[in-house]
Amino acid sequence: MEPFVYDGLPCRVIFGSGTLDQVADEIGRLVAKAALVLSTPEQESAARALATSLGSRAAGVFPGATMHTPVDVTETALKTMKASGADCTVALGGGSTIGLGKAIALRTGAPQLAIPTTYAGSEMTPIIGETEGGKKTTQRTLKVLPRTVIYDVDLTLSLPVALSVTSGMNSIAHAVEALYAENRNPIISMMAEECVRAFARALPNIVADPKNREARSDALYGAWLGGACLGAVGMALHHKLCHVLGGSFNLPHAETHTVVLPHALAYNAPAAVHAAAAIARAMGTGDAALGLHEFAKQLGAPTSLRELGMPQDGIERAADIAMQNPYWNPRPLERGAIRDLIARAWAGDPPTA
Ligand code: NAD
Repeated sequence: MEPFVYDGLPCRVIFGSGTLDQVADEIGRLVAKAALVLSTPEQESAARALATSLGSRAAGVFPGATMHTPVDVTETALKTMKASGADCTVALGGGSTIGLGKAIALRTGAPQLAIPTTYAGSEMTPIIGETEGGKKTTQRTLKVLPRTVIYDVDLTLSLPVALSVTSGMNSIAHAVEALYAENRNPIISMMAEECVRAFARALPNIVADPKNREARSDALYGAWLGGACLGAVGMALHHKLCHVLGGSFNLPHAETHTVVLPHALAYNAPAAVHAAAAIARAMGTGDAALGLHEFAKQLGAPTSLRELGMPQDGIERAADIAMQNPYWNPRPLERGAIRDLIARAWAGDPPTA
């Protein structure tokens, strides 16, 4: 056994079906009186229904959460929170809504309860990314880690199939990079392999039948595991590339992860043989990177950056930015090979090392 350091994160997790009924009790457990319920405009009716069911445990609803946690939206939400008298937040939604709950917690210290409805995994991490004036800054602080996370499978039945697939691939990406992280440890590696296995089982069944509860349950379990991986250990080339591509060309978050992952893994696999073997084992495939590429294709997911709207002349620029601010990666960063990786991802070619 290699030596390792493991930091456990303090977060209470409730998982099941019908668990939304436990929100009122869990607000009490936070020693809080009443919550501001957060959502995106698209999930406003679900947020209002939750607030109604919470009765005096809900002080109001703020349905203005949006992608990339813009600071001006957070400021408006803070005003609503103050006016409502709420002393905690309940975020009902995906990474965008949970990001808003984190931004409020960062500024007020108010306890947060997260109810994730996608597989992005933000609810399990002490990480927050915020945007102001078109610039994104990310920080890691325990102040933004939700105190309680309630996973309710019922809420994911409405997640559109295409988003279910790309959000699942986003979660798999956390697991893949956790397996070769510089600060990897045996507990997180177990969770990472189990995450890949859960999604390999779940996603084809969700594509076949989006209301398949067992498959939805497997996927949400995978999302918890993937989020825990992201929250616990450092990420590398794949996450850096997605950050660069998303920020530079305004590409959609989960879709970008889906396209880039097989290529980033193919690049790193020669330097991360054990990680690649664990992923291949979990997917029931011979080659982890090719297996992920084929898996995405079979699920009908996007496989090229071109189809996400990235211009071909952006390939060189993306390679330049990816080489800036050096970061740890299992395989040293080589500009030519990184450029070729991005070119293959742009064209939708199969991944190679
Ligand atoms: P999202 O939260 O933006 O949701 C996408 C859309 O799907 C929204 O309109 C939302 O209302 C809708 N939706 C969500 N769940 C639904 C459901 N069950 N049924 C129907 N519609 C539903 O997307 P996301 O991929 O979950 O989150 C992406 C954001 O989260 C990005 O900004 C990313 O940077 C951030 N993120 C942060 C972390 C972190 O640790 N800080 C981790 C992962 C993602």
